[in-house]
Amino acid sequence: MMLGLLLARAGVEVLVLEKHADFLRDFRGDTIHPSTLEILHELGLLEDFLKLPHQEVHQLVVQVGEVAVPIADFSHLPTRCKFIAFLPQWDFLNFLAERGASYPSFGLRMRAEVVGLFEEAGRVTGVEVATPEGRLDVRAKLVVAADGRHSVVRGKANLPIETLGAPMDVLWFRISRRPDDPAVGLGRFQVGRLFVILNRGDYWQCGFIIAKGTFDAIQRAGLPAFRDSVAALVPFAADRVADIRSWDDVKLLTVLVDRLTTWYRAGLLCIGDAAHAMSPVGGVGINLAIQDAVAAANLLAEPLGRGSVTDDDLRCVQRRRAPATRVVQRFQVLFQNRVVAPILNSRARTLTVPSALRLFVRFPWLRRIPARIVGIGLRPEHVKTAPRR
Ligand SMILES: Cc1cc2nc3c(=O)[nH]c(=O)nc-3n(C[C@H](O)[C@H](O)[C@H](O)COP(=O)(O)OP(=O)(O)OC[C@H]3O[C@@H](n4cnc5c(N)ncnc54)[C@H](O)[C@@H]3O)c2cc1C
Repeated sequence: MMLGLLLARAGVEVLVLEKHADFLRDFRGDTIHPSTLEILHELGLLEDFLKLPHQEVHQLVVQVGEVAVPIADFSHLPTRCKFIAFLPQWDFLNFLAERGASYPSFGLRMRAEVVGLFEEAGRVTGVEVATPEGRLDVRAKLVVAADGRHSVVRGKANLPIETLGAPMDVLWFRISRRPDDPAVGLGRFQVGRLFVILNRGDYWQCGFIIAKGTFDAIQRAGLPAFRDSVAALVPFAADRVADIRSWDDVKLLTVLVDRLTTWYRAGLLCIGDAAHAMSPVGGVGINLAIQDAVAAANLLAEPLGRGSVTDDDLRCVQRRRAPATRVVQRFQVLFQNRVVAPILNSRARTLTVPSALRLFVRFPWLRRIPARIVGIGLRPEHVKTAPRR
């Protein structure tokens, strides 16, 4: 959506295809990072964006047993907004879609699922789309796969994938929130348990992090036992765990960390999770996807305007974005292995703060490093394309 908006703003004809009828799906990342807020400022959209209902988080704190450990402090970032804005991703996508629609060359088609690629002489020349009205053939100078970590397009294009692995999956569900609950929740760690709660106004969005592949065993142990473990993690909401009425209220999100070794083929480019599925660690996947979109628009608007995009143009996008992505994934895998896996596998009676986290208590300035990685990323992008009306 961001790439569509940027290209249409630069005068390129764009069609964004979305398989769902709306963006109203729960449990996608809901974080808008300082660098994305900076991009919205560069587009002149920040003021309107901040009018949408949102929460501002200035530091990230994890609760390890009884100890609160601040791990990231955004107050030193060299950005206009020194906070992460939490708001439902559907509000963000609707906002971008509305702004995109103000450009004559922007098109968005909902309930349009890409099911195949057209190829001519080894070059991707368009996509086959399933719609409620029947099949639609879309021909294009460039197809951009921004279809997420289960990307159909990258599969159809046979692009080689490198898998990094993740020791966990996430169970997402809601419990209601009361006005006297704490305003901001975040990570909560206990022996064998990791939990994330996000304030969504009248409810808490809860992420229960479990060892990979253990959901069946959790279900076999029964819903009352699951509710009890939730109550132990969020004692202030223990009286509301009955909001989880059945397993249908609990959604399993499989965590994947992988990346394409080559992000493109003639006529096709992958960006965002389609190019590099991110772990939820640090909540940086949306930020990276947006940064890919900005870099792609900066590098491709001009060749697209000319009417021909070469493999070299596409290679430039990968060269620009892949190094930063690799480093962030390395950090995520390190955190998964050094913090997440030991906690999930711990048989200890009480949980001590992992040594990696203790450093943040001892040296507060260290909190600036995760703040920078999470808030801005390693290679922040800026809008370089000029608007064309
Ligand atoms: C459990 C979990 C929690 C996370 N939490 C956070 C967080 O808090 N903050 C954060 O920054 N990141 C988070 N992430 C990562 C983040 O969700 C992704 O990195 C980010 O959404 C990637 O954006 P994207 O645009 O590449 O793909 P997506 O956001 O996945 O968007 C892909 C879009 O393509 C559509 N689509 C898919 N297939 C087709 C098709 N065939 N035809 C047409 N449309 C199609 C989908 O409906 C979807 O709208 C989390 C990930 C997980 C697994």
